[in-house]
Amino acid sequence: MSTETIGGRYEEICRRVASACDAAGRAPGEVHLVAISKKQSPAVIREAAECGISVFGENRVQEAAAKIPECPEGLSWHLVGHLQGNKVQSAAELFDVIHSIDSLRLLQRMNAACAEAGRTISVLLQVSVSGEASKFGLAPEEVPLILEASIQCMSLDVVGLMTIPPFTPNPEGSAPHFAHLRKLRDQWRASTGIPLDELSMGMSHDFEIAIREGATTIRIGTALLGARKD
Ligand SMILES: *Cc1c(COP(=O)(O)O)cnc(C)c1O
Repeated sequence: MSTETIGGRYEEICRRVASACDAAGRAPGEVHLVAISKKQSPAVIREAAECGISVFGENRVQEAAAKIPECPEGLSWHLVGHLQGNKVQSAAELFDVIHSIDSLRLLQRMNAACAEAGRTISVLLQVSVSGEASKFGLAPEEVPLILEASIQCMSLDVVGLMTIPPFTPNPEGSAPHFAHLRKLRDQWRASTGIPLDELSMGMSHDFEIAIREGATTIRIGTALLGARKD
């Protein structure tokens, strides 16, 4: 199949995921794909859905709210971008998983919004592990308190951690950040008893490195759906 079609690229990515899993001694079923569909049209999403892709990720609530009604039903939607306080209620209604919880206040507001919407959703804490001041993401030292507080959040399941390393042209540059997140996860799992099974890490250019370092969810946009219309 040609890599000029979504179907062809999907096949190619599945092959690369399988081979990265094999190299790491992991089962391919341990790694889940979220197709990042920000700035892609409903037509592109429909084509991807026809290829068997069912989990999509958006980075803006407003864009997702406009687009989701125009997409096939039965897809699962994840939020991977920063969430503003005034969008929490719609996010609670639109998404099944939120990868980008980056404050205690946001966690608590999301819990209240999910209770209000009568649903329980899965969330991940976004952690900034690079040591440099990044725009979004929790500093590692903030996380234990938030994990403790999450035990009271009955409408949320805190299932894991997410990170976005700084871009480096050589994807191996992401490896220490991915390894660091996994090490922190192991520490926090031991100290809080929360399993934190999900590690959401790896994008188009570095997903094989992320799989090697323990990713359970990879977030792939351009390599799968093609260039975005910015
Ligand atoms: C855009 C985006 C991605 C996908 O990026 P690609 O390089 O297109 O694969 C993954 N994660 C987040 C949080 C994003 O915003």
